[in-house]
Amino acid sequence: MWQQILRTNYRSWPELARDLELDEKLGSSYAPFPLNLPRRLAAKIEKGNRQDPILLQFLPYPAKVGKSSFCADPVGDRAAKKAPRLLHKYRGRALLLASSACAMHCRYCFRQYFDYAKGEVNFEQELAAIKTDSSVSEVILSGGDPLSLSNSHLKNLIEQLEGIDHLKRLRFHSRFPIGIPERLDAEFRSLLPKRLQTYFVIHCNHPRELDEEILRALKNLRVPLLNQSVLLKNVNDNLETLKELSDTLLNGGILPYYLHQLDQVKGAEAFEVEEDKGRELIRQLTACMSGYGVPKYVREIAGQPNKSPLL
Ligand SMILES: *Cc1c(COP(=O)(O)O)cnc(C)c1O
Ligand code: SF4
Repeated sequence: MWQQILRTNYRSWPELARDLELDEKLGSSYAPFPLNLPRRLAAKIEKGNRQDPILLQFLPYPAKVGKSSFCADPVGDRAAKKAPRLLHKYRGRALLLASSACAMHCRYCFRQYFDYAKGEVNFEQELAAIKTDSSVSEVILSGGDPLSLSNSHLKNLIEQLEGIDHLKRLRFHSRFPIGIPERLDAEFRSLLPKRLQTYFVIHCNHPRELDEEILRALKNLRVPLLNQSVLLKNVNDNLETLKELSDTLLNGGILPYYLHQLDQVKGAEAFEVEEDKGRELIRQLTACMSGYGVPKYVREIAGQPNKSPLL
């Protein structure tokens, strides 16, 4: 079911431009990280509006010569690789690059140049590394998007993780439900851990990405829900949008977790917001909503033992 929906994603910019009544010259068929956008998310883009905050996140714009600080590996992922599909950067937490595939391609993605392990899905080396390191109490399933894995691969992986005694928690990081909430089907719910405490972190930047169906599917998981966002110029760098995003999340039972300063990845230059502006937005947000609706404003700095608070 969800695989069939995934196959209908927009992958051709001229086709999307036509359906959105936009000038094809606005974007390009940017090859290294091509357009990939689920139809139901594309349907939320206002026709003819080249500044639409959802469109801007996915529009394959022509490559520009950017600031030199923007590079292919801005957060030092390569240095944190402990096995082909395992990053271990922070104490107690190991991150599994469960899949290189995503339900969509976000233009600002800091892993868009990541050299993912290729070939058959196999986590033998990663599981062995986690087993031998008893300091790891939490595994984060990330990627790409871990929900790109089939249910049978996920089930197998989760069963093996459940068998590692020193693991206590499992965390999903996924943007899949924003594009294809059908992914959270009954079979997926049934393979969630029994022993490990599970957290599900979605990645949503603008309130319009959410709707009743998505929120219902998430709530049905019956696990704690969190959200992380990236502060993106012309997408969510204003108080009204951030407030509406937090309100929509809280009303849906999702706690705002992080607001990330943009990682300086090549090609994402146009999305950068000054840190001072980000700090001011967080101050304003704090003044107008429940404390638990204000995300932590952080930046990832290569080599640091944690995400660095900016406020
Ligand atoms: C962000 C990140 C984590 C999780 O950090 P938290 O602050 O616990 O959310 C873990 N490992 C890696 C490699 C990360 O980039
Ligand atoms: S990893 Fe996340 S941010 Fe990057 S393209 Fe995939 S869904 Fe988008």
